[in-house]
Amino acid sequence: MDSLSSLASLTPEQFFGGVTKAGKALAAAEKKGNVPKTKNFDFSVQETCCVCQKNITPPLKVLRCSACRAPIYCGRECATKHWKYPPPQPPGSIPGPTHKELCPANKRHMERREYYDGVLKSFPWGRLESDATFSFDIARGRFGVFGGTGTGYWSHRGGPIPHSNRGVMESMLASSPYGATIMKAFAAFDHTDGADLLGARHLTDVQGWKLEPAFLPYLNFPSADKRPALVTSALNSWDEWYQWRKLPKESPAALLMSFPMTVYRLLVHCLEVTGPTEASADKRRALSVHLLGAEVELNYLPLFAELALLLPYHDIQLVVFGSGAETLVTAAKKKPSSLVAKSSLTTPVYDYTAPKECGASKIAIHIYGDSPSWSPSATTRPPDALVACNAGIFSYREWEPVVQEAHRRDIPFAVTEYAEQSAEHTSNNLGMLVARGGGRPRKVEEYTIETNPFHRPGQRPIPLYRLPNLVNGFTIVVVKTSSTPLTTMSELASSIADLD
Ligand SMILES: [Zn+2]
Ligand SMILES: [Zn+2]
Repeated sequence: MDSLSSLASLTPEQFFGGVTKAGKALAAAEKKGNVPKTKNFDFSVQETCCVCQKNITPPLKVLRCSACRAPIYCGRECATKHWKYPPPQPPGSIPGPTHKELCPANKRHMERREYYDGVLKSFPWGRLESDATFSFDIARGRFGVFGGTGTGYWSHRGGPIPHSNRGVMESMLASSPYGATIMKAFAAFDHTDGADLLGARHLTDVQGWKLEPAFLPYLNFPSADKRPALVTSALNSWDEWYQWRKLPKESPAALLMSFPMTVYRLLVHCLEVTGPTEASADKRRALSVHLLGAEVELNYLPLFAELALLLPYHDIQLVVFGSGAETLVTAAKKKPSSLVAKSSLTTPVYDYTAPKECGASKIAIHIYGDSPSWSPSATTRPPDALVACNAGIFSYREWEPVVQEAHRRDIPFAVTEYAEQSAEHTSNNLGMLVARGGGRPRKVEEYTIETNPFHRPGQRPIPLYRLPNLVNGFTIVVVKTSSTPLTTMSELASSIADLD
């Protein structure tokens, strides 16, 4: 109860201010060459046993599976239980796999840690905590861009309620004796994703990024030397992007640019619906993209104009769908002079034209607010691609009709997932989802999983295990136009039989 009452009395100013102070103190210590090893500068998460959910504090020591090093246990008893018995499931459902069954795959997943940790460590602000997690909050704090509404593109809920989809939690809390206390804290930290679009004018590059000028990937270039060169081949890493953008790796821009760059990756590399040399000054290319399940993306929608710089001679329409989009459009009804209220599916909420030296592409961004779900007929021109970041295909039922419709209409569709284990679960079970809707699945191999070079650097602070788990960590192809549906009944049957 102690921590709960202190949560309720914590103001956003105290919370955000505290993190910013800690982040800046860390940056100052590093600057002096005093890379701190003390506990004062350790922003690890409280490690928790993945079996009994007990916090592991002294005298208990963190125990990990000796074969894969992934799951975290409080002791031998829990480790043995995890190895032999499936974790408890709701009554009537199929028991999940035991760790014995998952261990070889987890060992393979753990081999990716080196790559992901290496990407993080290539940034001067990229610091692994003692438990091998990355503190996104502290990283923003050191640049003074951690806070709720009113912190430009960095605006977010943060604090004790980082995720906007809290419907389930609210219904659980209704029956909890602490519900009222927690709801009070929720209200204090509330933030509408995309709140800046409820204003009458867009933020400038400087107002949005709130960073020193050398760290900004400008869209409206203050001088020719800030302008990136015409793109002639696809970019495949943060290093290539920073170089092209003429930014030092000291800039934390990757922390936000992961979302637009991931959309670029999905379109160009995973789905191959277009590319940097697909169009020319004489032969422009139209491209319509539906971005589904958007939440945090709404806080920095103009940053998706990066697509216009990356894809020369394109005319891009980007339509944003999701419950966050609907919430924003609903909120805008009370603000008739806001950017959102004045926008529609024919009038973009934001538009941008790249300089002629960069290929003069145009992008028009629209927000779909009629419902929280995707509507394939929202735009007159059918989408060339559907994309979603951190989709959680098997965590949210809302994806089922989208997956089925994309297969039925053969619309290219790709998403990202946080963890390889969930990506593999998705890939292995997509066929079942498609068949359930009467559609024809693709071969499992065509639901390709890859590491995403434009993941948000840094391991998410997951207290239960150490499997790579990152924002936009892994890409999965759901439908690619070159893929062929399974046609024979035996192929269909075997693909479904594979699903256990
Ligand atoms: Zn335990
Ligand atoms: Zn293991």
